[in-house]
Amino acid sequence: MSRRHPPAAGEVTRFAPSPTGLLHLGHAFSALDAARAAGAGGRFLLRIEDIDTARCKPAFEQAIFDDLALLGLSWETPVMRQAGRMDAYAAALDRLAALEVVYPCFCSRKDIRAEAERLGGAPHGPLGTPYPGTCRDLPAAERQARIDAGTPHALRLDHARAHERVGRPEWTDRRHGTFQADLSEIGDVMLARKEVATSYHLAVVVDDAAQGITLVTRGEDLLPATPIHRVLQALLELPVPDWRHHALIADDDGRRLAKRDDAVALRAYREQGHSPAAVRALAGVPD
Ligand code: GLU
Repeated sequence: MSRRHPPAAGEVTRFAPSPTGLLHLGHAFSALDAARAAGAGGRFLLRIEDIDTARCKPAFEQAIFDDLALLGLSWETPVMRQAGRMDAYAAALDRLAALEVVYPCFCSRKDIRAEAERLGGAPHGPLGTPYPGTCRDLPAAERQARIDAGTPHALRLDHARAHERVGRPEWTDRRHGTFQADLSEIGDVMLARKEVATSYHLAVVVDDAAQGITLVTRGEDLLPATPIHRVLQALLELPVPDWRHHALIADDDGRRLAKRDDAVALRAYREQGHSPAAVRALAGVPD
């Protein structure tokens, strides 16, 4: 059974950026929001989400530290870094395998597109087209033969089996309400990639538990992914935080800010000598 965190004096929150680009005002809002949610008696933690080593760059990681300092934030050290935690993710995958809720998937993106089309264009789920299930029911002997032949494969969550194990567990978002985690429209998500032995979904769940996070604050763009996290927590019998997904801030034309848009990068404000108070105001956070 999943345990709830005991009520704490303050919340334990985190900011969990990926060093794949420069942070912008949206990240500033998110980091300040997490720090504020920790409040006086709480703890604000930083986690570097650097599992995608091909896209993560040390210079972007340094910029994260500099940008957060510009915002006047301080955080506990040592900072957790996902790249050093592959053993923890492998252990979680082993537990899920023992529960028989994961399976190897040998499909390429092209295979998946072709199969989805053959099935008459799969419905678009909240996180894109769900995996059409091609590898879910491969005979065990064939699976083993392909693995033995060294065929690269990902690992997927069998969502129907997962629901058989843990039902549809509840989760609470403090802005949006209480939900039951239902993966039927999301499908069999990837838990480990061919080239990276974990995925965002698995790592975030394992690490939020390891860091004792009681309140996950992050942008609303990740709201549709939270049912996956809640189901994984139930399967792995991890403590259950609350969530608070905040609205995303947009540019003057109403578009979502992107990491590739250097104009709104926090570094630009740093270089122009803006004060923490000025950047907080630009990010829309009351001082
Ligand atoms: N690393 C994710 C990002 O940069 C955030 C993950 C999370 O807060 O759960 O978008």
